[in-house]
Amino acid sequence: MKMTKYVLALICAFQLSCSSLGGGVSESDINAEAAKAYAEIKAKSKMSNNAEWNAMVQRVAQRIAQSSGENFQWEVVLIDSPEVNAWCMPGGKMAVYTGIMPVLKTEGALAAVMGHEVAHATLRHGMAGYARAKQSNYAGLAIGIATIVGGQVLCKTEQCRQLSQLGGVAAGFALTFLDRKFSRGDETSADKEGQMLMARAGYDPAESLKLWQRMNAAQKGAAPPEFMSTHPSDQTRQGNLSSWLPQAEQAYAQAPQKYGIGAPIK
Ligand SMILES: [Zn+2]
Repeated sequence: MKMTKYVLALICAFQLSCSSLGGGVSESDINAEAAKAYAEIKAKSKMSNNAEWNAMVQRVAQRIAQSSGENFQWEVVLIDSPEVNAWCMPGGKMAVYTGIMPVLKTEGALAAVMGHEVAHATLRHGMAGYARAKQSNYAGLAIGIATIVGGQVLCKTEQCRQLSQLGGVAAGFALTFLDRKFSRGDETSADKEGQMLMARAGYDPAESLKLWQRMNAAQKGAAPPEFMSTHPSDQTRQGNLSSWLPQAEQAYAQAPQKYGIGAPIK
């Protein structure tokens, strides 16, 4: 089982560097760009000083990272922003926004969100897109994403507005990353792998279903965060998560430590 996963990882790594990235842009190039963009985002953002939430975000990230078995340069920050959002860049650089915390209600739901976001990174979703963007120059692409009208940069999100003030390649990557759209297939596999990651990390995977219900209730009218993207549909997503649950419950039963739904988020 472990061996199969290792071999698959090797094949993936080979294919990423040889075919889907192409043109001499390697995964380590992409991860290096992501790390630079992450440093810019951290420098530009206000960090939360909520000690309880910070501690929770750190421990959940650490447990999810460990359960992934991936040798990334993991890092997570809690950004003080009303935005209901969380993400993980290629290479394991993560952010959670304070706006999502009250919606989640439990540490287990935070683990479900982070599991989903980390799964996009460990499954190498969107890497071909980053490679294309890098080859066509991030800065130029960033201008295309953040349309400039009369000297004003028009952005859909607060992050975009903050980052559009930056110049250079790191801002280009950041804007490319934050504006990314994953395919329906990628979303479904991130849901599945995310549920497994949270279970192996010791969080009750049934909480993943509660998460989507809470997010749906809270999202009426607001712009949806990445993991609430319109596809797959809510019904499909809930049905999928239910059908995968027995397998995730098995992984949860085998987790070395169990935290259930974790601490409440107040
Ligand atoms: Zn997603």
